[in-house]
Amino acid sequence: MSDFKRDGSHLVSCAPVQKWDDWVELDAQSWPKRVEKHYQLVPTICFNCESACGLLAYINKATGEIDKFEGNPKHPASRGRLCAKGPATINQIHDPDRILYPMKRSGPRGSGKWTRTSWPEVLEEFGGRIRRAIQQGRGNEVMYHVGRPGHDFIMDRTLQAWGIDGHNSHTNVCSSSARLGYLLWHYADRPSPDHANARFILLLSAHLESGHYFNPHAQRIIEGKMAGAKLAVMDPRLSNTASMADYWLPTYPGTESAVLLAMAKVILDENRFDAPFVKNWTNWQDLEIDGFTAKGQSFESAIEALRKHYAGFTPQFAEKESGVKAEVIVQIAREIAAAGSRFASHLWRGSASGNLGGWQTARALTLLHVLTGSVGTEGGHNLNAWNKFVPKPFSVPPAQKQWNELLYPREWPLCTHEMSFLLPHFLKEGRGRVDAYFTRVFNPVWTYPDGFSWIEMLRDEDKIGLHAALTPTWNETAWFADYVLPMGFSSERHDLMSQESYAGQWIGFRQPVKRVLRERAGERFEYTYQANPGEVWEEDEFWINLSWAIDPDGAMGIRQYFESPYRPGQKLTLDEYYGWMFEHSVPGLPEAASKEDLTPLEYMRKYGAFEVTRDVYKQNEKPLPAAMLAGAEVAFDGTISKDGKPVGVMIGDEAAVGYNTPSRKLELFSKTMADWNWGAFALPEYYRSHIHQGAQAVSLGEPSEDFDARYAPAVVWPDDAQGEIYTLLPIFRLPNLIHTRSGNAKFLYEISHKNPLWINPSDARKLGGVRTGDLMKVHTEIGYFVLHAWVTEGLAPGVVACSHHLGRWRVNQDEQIERMSSAWVDLKEIGKGKWKMRQLQSVKPYETDDPDTNRIWWGDAGVHQNITFPVHPDPVSGMHCWHQMVRVEKAGPDDRYGDIFVDTNLSFAVYQRWKALARPGPGPGGLRRPLWIPRAVRPDESAYYIEK
Ligand code: SF4
Repeated sequence: MSDFKRDGSHLVSCAPVQKWDDWVELDAQSWPKRVEKHYQLVPTICFNCESACGLLAYINKATGEIDKFEGNPKHPASRGRLCAKGPATINQIHDPDRILYPMKRSGPRGSGKWTRTSWPEVLEEFGGRIRRAIQQGRGNEVMYHVGRPGHDFIMDRTLQAWGIDGHNSHTNVCSSSARLGYLLWHYADRPSPDHANARFILLLSAHLESGHYFNPHAQRIIEGKMAGAKLAVMDPRLSNTASMADYWLPTYPGTESAVLLAMAKVILDENRFDAPFVKNWTNWQDLEIDGFTAKGQSFESAIEALRKHYAGFTPQFAEKESGVKAEVIVQIAREIAAAGSRFASHLWRGSASGNLGGWQTARALTLLHVLTGSVGTEGGHNLNAWNKFVPKPFSVPPAQKQWNELLYPREWPLCTHEMSFLLPHFLKEGRGRVDAYFTRVFNPVWTYPDGFSWIEMLRDEDKIGLHAALTPTWNETAWFADYVLPMGFSSERHDLMSQESYAGQWIGFRQPVKRVLRERAGERFEYTYQANPGEVWEEDEFWINLSWAIDPDGAMGIRQYFESPYRPGQKLTLDEYYGWMFEHSVPGLPEAASKEDLTPLEYMRKYGAFEVTRDVYKQNEKPLPAAMLAGAEVAFDGTISKDGKPVGVMIGDEAAVGYNTPSRKLELFSKTMADWNWGAFALPEYYRSHIHQGAQAVSLGEPSEDFDARYAPAVVWPDDAQGEIYTLLPIFRLPNLIHTRSGNAKFLYEISHKNPLWINPSDARKLGGVRTGDLMKVHTEIGYFVLHAWVTEGLAPGVVACSHHLGRWRVNQDEQIERMSSAWVDLKEIGKGKWKMRQLQSVKPYETDDPDTNRIWWGDAGVHQNITFPVHPDPVSGMHCWHQMVRVEKAGPDDRYGDIFVDTNLSFAVYQRWKALARPGPGPGGLRRPLWIPRAVRPDESAYYIEK
């Protein structure tokens, strides 16, 4: 009791590491008695978003159970702090509805009939099927499709060991447009803003409260603000982030790059740009614009050509497009210029993922960094690759020699990631089939647009031969699988993660905390599912064992990558896989461990994270090693090439490594865009999105000079679509929900369980006097959904909004799916491709071992809007353009809350109209896509060429 003082001076924000083996707290339930609880604290990594914050599992010494999760103060990115979703891990692991054993379908697909099966049976069935596919030359019929990865490299290694091109991801419904805009500048497809040291921060959408790298970024944005940085937020919605800002810029959706280019124009015209940086580090000598060729010309003449090129982007023009006042645009441009190299920004989804041409927003935003010289600087815009560390394992298989056109089809040669949301449409067109399909922490029926097309695909055994859903929670997609395989949450699995969340490199180690603790006490487990609840497993061990099942005797050359580096011919354990990397591939870790008399693995198991370096700025300025200069050639623009490949760049008399682009500089002018049929977009540009007001007029048959139909498809309204036209913003996040995985987190659903339609009061009047709570019908191009209105000043006029995350549903009443977060629905196909859903019962209290399920007081699960959206593949980036042009009206007498109707025949027609805008490869030299542009699980170079 001596640690507990009456004056509270014993209170600390985080348990200090020296007390982790016996941390003592008073039991709140026993108050007013002072009863001690003794804990052992074991670190792991949160799995509830991409940020990979450090958790500490509080394991009750008396029961051996995890009582709670708090932040790990030794984690360099999250520094002991968490958002609401981190501690809610406790709900997920104790969820009474969770899947505890591997399940096999025992009725027709989608019938909801399951029987328990065993892990050996699962391994045998999939191992045999995959082996046959590979041996028969059908390796590309094996597909792994991931929602939340939560690890680095291990799946690339696994699929390449199998020799297949089978990695599919969710990225093209998430971030691939922003990625294209960034990578065209500097190869790195993500920014790593140094918010903490910035003087001016510009956020496009709600990064402070819910965005990418949410908690690690939020704390550093606040640090920057407390040190005097100004914050501007560009978002049509008055988010909590915008409410914390010095400037809120409620742009009309899709017009953000017009505003950014107007700011660039101000900086150029007023000579506020960093001329030495632009001269040294951009490829201005490659400019070919408006009849001007920079080769052989002066830098000043190139700047003049740029000024002329952007002459039309006056602040007044930007105001007309966006609604943001011209004088505010000018003022912010000047403040950004004054911040100079300490200007930080972030864009990830929002404008980029909502709009046709959204990738231009990232291109235009990075132009501001280039003009201010804030690329790679303290307080500026750094490159993700500089702030992320991925250690190499003990052996790396060769790149696969195959190319899977279901993933990277010819129509979108510049897409940054797999065209994953078009899989049902590709299979409908007869482009192939999938024999063995793994969905992993992935729920496309619910998260993707056009979910009914996914259901049609998943239930068709000719299209999907065998489907296993690897998932920690029940979900709408798993319902249509053949196997449902329970995978662990944050405290039940191994993964190694690193993210570019601040100016430094670190690794974080997720671990199954109860197994770790019991092994510390001398117990031994062959597999993690033996220490987890039920038979919940982890993917790492699953893939190792599946690889052995595919290649049991090693004859296929697969098994060698899953054998121990220490015990030849024996099956690899995860202690060996991670232990080897920590010993050999993480600079500084062995030394740090040995100072404490620990092995590197013991060190990572003890602390859960390690900071590799803080030396991350200006990596482009590193000198090119002398050996690289021997026999190299220098082009007119300073690019140094060796054996035909660019390797560095001359800056004055010095040879530097530069950026990983063809010119080794920041590519102001993208020759790649010009070479691949998009010459009009070789520079950062603005073009009007598919939801622009001009496009809305065209959809009603009115000509519009404001709209360029070369880049946007026609909208064809269904016959019954009535009401006023609006732009629907469907992708903003609620800070405390996690896509599908929050479905069993009672703390989180208690906070958020509604997704009403946001409507500005002026629009509410226009729509006939709509009031909060009124039932509204929202028509998309393929159907409709019905939900309540929320009339609010927190949204720009002309736009309506509905949050992502809610509207979960289940087709049976009481079993096997999270009842606290889903509505029981009647799902009917009333004609070919015509789907109707009506809620039969929403959330209500229910009896389980957890008394809280009987205390559920909310009665709403929200409305599933995504399923009523058609696919909108951007013709350049391939990203699904999420914003919808919709028609909004008051619901009729036959409409009920949560009603949904979709016609997948119409959705297929929309797909075809968007596909027609793409400009297919091959490109120069018969290439499928440019060799220099990154690709997930990159194949061998030979696979990049289309065979004649
Ligand atoms: S930001 Fe929140 S959900 Fe994401 S990893 Fe950190 S604690 Fe978990």
